[in-house]
Amino acid sequence: MESHKEVQHYDPIEKKLLHSQIHKAQKFIDNNCLEKLGDRVYICKPLPGYNKTKYTIEKKDEIWICNCQGFKAHCNCSHVQAILIKEGGLHQ
Ligand SMILES: [Zn+2]
Repeated sequence: MESHKEVQHYDPIEKKLLHSQIHKAQKFIDNNCLEKLGDRVYICKPLPGYNKTKYTIEKKDEIWICNCQGFKAHCNCSHVQAILIKEGGLHQ
């Protein structure tokens, strides 16, 4: 019998990442985790039962910069996404 070779499925990591980020970002918004400290500073409080770290996100030269691991690795993270959604800069 001919074995059916599975068609390789292209699921770019970036796209996956973005999807999970937006999903998580929405959770931060739904749980009111974002707290605006100033025009250019937000803190993101931990999601109950999800993590325990509070992150600070600052706007520098029109770019939001977060101090979490994800941002360091990808220059993008769910916290930044959450702010973008909240501020209306990212339309879904
Ligand atoms: Zn972050």
